[in-house]
Amino acid sequence: MSIEKKNGTGTGDGGSGTPEIQVRGLHKSFGDNEVLRGIDLEVGSGEVVCVIGPSGSGKSTLLRCVNLLEEPTKGQVFVDGIEITDPDVDIDAVRRRIGMVFQQFNLFPHLTVTDNLTLPQRRVLGRDKEAAAEVAAENLRRVGLSEKATAYPASLSGGQQQRVAIARALAMGPEVMLFDEPTSALDPELVGDVLAVMRMLADEGMTMMVVTHEMSFAREVADRVVFMDGGVIVEEGTPAQVIGNPSHDRTRHFLSRLL
Ligand code: ADP
Ligand code: MG
Repeated sequence: MSIEKKNGTGTGDGGSGTPEIQVRGLHKSFGDNEVLRGIDLEVGSGEVVCVIGPSGSGKSTLLRCVNLLEEPTKGQVFVDGIEITDPDVDIDAVRRRIGMVFQQFNLFPHLTVTDNLTLPQRRVLGRDKEAAAEVAAENLRRVGLSEKATAYPASLSGGQQQRVAIARALAMGPEVMLFDEPTSALDPELVGDVLAVMRMLADEGMTMMVVTHEMSFAREVADRVVFMDGGVIVEEGTPAQVIGNPSHDRTRHFLSRLL
């Protein structure tokens, strides 16, 4: 699957060392409120980057700019070498390559688990019913919920609903997965199953950006940790550097409040 511009051809060359995600000089304002103040970030293919930082620092806005749920005020975002902030780019094609999982799972309550997974495949990818059902079954298996195929969301735990939401995103065949505090709305005993699914995806080589307050997940799974505050990246590095031995007071202060 490639992002093709409405006029002309895409030139993505996945696998050749081009970063999967590249953010350059990204600014985003809501009215007078400048929420992102110049973000530069690269995520390599297969890399897992955890984004941490206090509430209001712009983490969600950054993720939302990466899949164009928000339009940047200034700067560029590239996915697999294609500038998705180019006005000529086909936004729907961009979104197909980027799966997103939110704190709130946003499943359709009136549809079964399987239908939640097949509907977007049919609507957005034009898959027929049988093909979509096959992909749905495969992805429910991956998240360990095959037995819930005919259940309705309300009958599932929060952790199971979030795993369905992950399976729904995976069923679209994304190259990149963005997670925005996927476990923050869950009871503590349900967090582990969701993190286990995310860890499996990381092990399979999925490119991931994960906004999370789960420091043990960030320590163990992230290739790189990015600490944001006030709309800028204050520091980034390996988990051992940023979480284990932060070099900025703001990072230390943030981490000390989590413990
Ligand atoms: P975080 O995810 O780090 O908590 P956000 O990116 O959600 O931070 O928000 C950063 C700032 O942007 C906050 O001050 C928030 O109120 C503001 N903001 C986010 N989305 C909108 C929006 N759609 N309209 C106006 N302000 C927004
Ligand atoms: Mg947020």
